[in-house]
Amino acid sequence: MNDQESYSQEGDTPSFADLPLATEVQEAIELIGYETPSPIQAQAIPYLLEGRDLMGVADTGTGKTAAFGLPILTNLDPKGGGPQALCLTPTRELAIQVAEALESFGNRITNFQALPIYGGSDYGRQIRGLKNGAPVVVGTPGRVMDHINKGTLKLEKIRTLVLDEADEMLCMGFIEDVE
Ligand code: AMP
Repeated sequence: MNDQESYSQEGDTPSFADLPLATEVQEAIELIGYETPSPIQAQAIPYLLEGRDLMGVADTGTGKTAAFGLPILTNLDPKGGGPQALCLTPTRELAIQVAEALESFGNRITNFQALPIYGGSDYGRQIRGLKNGAPVVVGTPGRVMDHINKGTLKLEKIRTLVLDEADEMLCMGFIEDVE
């Protein structure tokens, strides 16, 4: 069974077209080949589009990245001016994976970039990406703190904060950095 088949439509599950997502976002998910929102997407996206806080609990592989990513992309201010969303992840692998997924959802949005920032990697590229005004930053807590303290990651324009795999971040002892 592939990913699409595993999200078969049941009862009154909405289609993506029923969700008030930006046209560019609708186009991108159509290109990627998603047909039906997964349950966490169908339940979370309408709330998040209203700007509400939400705690999503669903198994790995159930589409949580798009559940938080599609509303972030829909609500982006095209005027930019610095990061508008910050996603914290427990590991660098997840930071890279989430940034890649967000870039695929944002591939119809002009100049969209989701910048991964994580420890053990060169600061130069990360600082250049931040200076270029990446609208979404995805990073591990320690390196995100470093950039905040250096003044290279500015938080004034952040409207959305995502704690991805928050339980994992707590298990890994990131509570102080996350706070
Ligand atoms: P995630 O839980 O966000 O890591 O997503 C797991 C996998 O499901 C990824 O390969 C996604 O591309 C895929 N996926 C997410 N949402 C959908 C959807 N609505 N329809 C089909 N595949 C999806």
